[in-house]
Amino acid sequence: MARRRLDLTFPPSQATKPIAYHLVKDFDLTPNILRAQIQPGQQGRMLLEVVGPREAIDAGVAFLAGEGIEVLPAASDICLDEDQCVTCGLCTAVCKPGALTLDNDSKLVFDKDKCVYCEACVVACPRRAITLRF
Ligand code: SF4
Ligand code: SF4
Repeated sequence: MARRRLDLTFPPSQATKPIAYHLVKDFDLTPNILRAQIQPGQQGRMLLEVVGPREAIDAGVAFLAGEGIEVLPAASDICLDEDQCVTCGLCTAVCKPGALTLDNDSKLVFDKDKCVYCEACVVACPRRAITLRF
């Protein structure tokens, strides 16, 4: 099984298309919507995690692209301003999946594979050092 995180941009005409349904029914994938900004008739964004055989994911991505949806890998959605960070650790305390940790040198470490983009760290940081790109 493979797992891939996708950054989707929907044109207004496709904003309400039931893509999760198609990914399950037509490609036997398990989709997990991590974040979404969808309004009927407007351009939409979605951060989607899909789990399934690699070939099925490729086919699902090709399907999405064929529907006019821009599909990019969700690579770096958290942005840390290291000049602002004072390594207080408050963000690590609220990060339930453990995506943010302090290493032995008290340096903040971000593991994007664990991040569910909940924004708890963004809110918790007193220095406004963390932003989400999505
Ligand atoms: S809460 Fe902000 S200042 Fe504190 S460790 Fe996290 S990013 Fe750095
Ligand atoms: S967005 Fe949520 S899961 Fe991701 S690093 Fe911040 S607190 Fe952790």
